[in-house]
Amino acid sequence: MKIEIDPARLLSEIEELASISEAEPPAVTRIVFTPADLRARAWLVARCEAAGLKVRCDAIGNTFARWEGSDPNARIVGTGSHIDAIPNAGKYDGVVGVLGGLEAVRALQRGGLKPKSSLELLMFTSEEPTRFGVGCVGSRLLAGTLTPSAARELKDKNGESLDEVRRKAGFDGKLESVELPQGYYKAFVELHIEQGPLLERERIPLGVVTKIAAPASARVTIEGVGGHAGGVVMTDRHDALCAAAELILAIESAARTSGSPDNVATVGMCDVFPGAVNSIPSRVQISVDVRDTNLAKRDGVMLLMESASKEITARRGVTMQVELLNADAPAECAPLIVDVLSAACKKHREKFMTMTSRAYHDSLFISRIAPVAMLFIPCRNGYSHRPDEYASIQDIARGALVLAETLAALSA
Ligand SMILES: [Zn+2]
Repeated sequence: MKIEIDPARLLSEIEELASISEAEPPAVTRIVFTPADLRARAWLVARCEAAGLKVRCDAIGNTFARWEGSDPNARIVGTGSHIDAIPNAGKYDGVVGVLGGLEAVRALQRGGLKPKSSLELLMFTSEEPTRFGVGCVGSRLLAGTLTPSAARELKDKNGESLDEVRRKAGFDGKLESVELPQGYYKAFVELHIEQGPLLERERIPLGVVTKIAAPASARVTIEGVGGHAGGVVMTDRHDALCAAAELILAIESAARTSGSPDNVATVGMCDVFPGAVNSIPSRVQISVDVRDTNLAKRDGVMLLMESASKEITARRGVTMQVELLNADAPAECAPLIVDVLSAACKKHREKFMTMTSRAYHDSLFISRIAPVAMLFIPCRNGYSHRPDEYASIQDIARGALVLAETLAALSA
């Protein structure tokens, strides 16, 4: 069978989807269950139906587009990613896996494939944590790592619950019905931009992912004592921001000295109250994000953060409350799918390297219920989650081709 990707069509679809956004181009903002997200979903469903796929949405809005296989007893082969985007993001994160997956399916249809297993394109709800503070809400529910009752408790910053918001968006089944049974998927493969610089630096067009790093995140609230910036002398101060600054540096140092090259720690948010030039900060809230492929090393940084917080608290006369938001295990990709992906690269004479995914993806959670692997393509300078995120259509089409070859092999 000859598999031919249509790069022009794929590119025009990527551009069209990017135009469904709440930000000025080239930036893309598509936050879950906002009007832009709902328009994008409707657009995608129409594209899938035009390709003859049977579309269903579950109670959280995960969208499954199925090409029925010839053997009703064969387990399903899945591919997909997400189309939600953080504020001022780019066009490719997630989208490459969804539209590249759709084009891979169409290329197999054009090539005359008669799959034995059904092929299912999956668009996950809310991969990004922007609205509800937790990433991968859709895939966590599919895998049962987020319980329906915990999901119902999630609220956005306006106090609207996930449950209300998803119902308003038209997804009103029982959240209990979202979880997929073990064995639903024979295999799941996610195509994604690397979101790091390695492929570009090595001039290798494809990365076969063998491991996905384990993420943990926390919110730390530091309470000090506010006061007049002129009136309170330095010896009387319990400045919440100065305490936060010490904690942030302690987190950085814990990651730097962890002894693991895969260990990364980031404080990306810092809210200061009352936030006035002449007022001593009384309360600070920071976000903490720590990742490693090695679970013990990841947890080691979290523990060092806790002990640093105790020491700083005692010395500075402030309080710190550490709220763990998530702590997930890493995933090993399935050797069988890694082999099929590698064989597909070789068949098309494409250079590839095996690599670790330092970012996490829906595949991390799907790995709890199915064999998974991921295929990475380069993105310029490793940039992602910013408007100048860029992947060339040649690289995207190459990824879609190898994905199609892989899906064909897995569904035979
Ligand atoms: Zn993504």
